[in-house]
Amino acid sequence: MIESSVARRARRGLALWRDRGAEIRPMPAGGLSVPSCSEPGRSYWVSLVVEGRCGCADWRLRREPCKHIFAALVWAAKRRQRQPCERRVA
Ligand SMILES: [Zn+2]
Repeated sequence: MIESSVARRARRGLALWRDRGAEIRPMPAGGLSVPSCSEPGRSYWVSLVVEGRCGCADWRLRREPCKHIFAALVWAAKRRQRQPCERRVA
């Protein structure tokens, strides 16, 4: 089966969120801290602005959404689901 690289990263990002989502944190200056799945104790800075940015080697090389960006997207979507009403602007 041929799987696109983006689909593979989306699947790995979902797995990363499932395993380590509790460690994803918003950063004071903006963006998110997302744990590395290959290096324990390491985390990457991820921005979801526009198409997303990540500090990992994969993103720097390809400039395409990596698993950390996908994990951050799932994290952000889940957070929005939890607080749909308080954030509503009249
Ligand atoms: Zn990354």
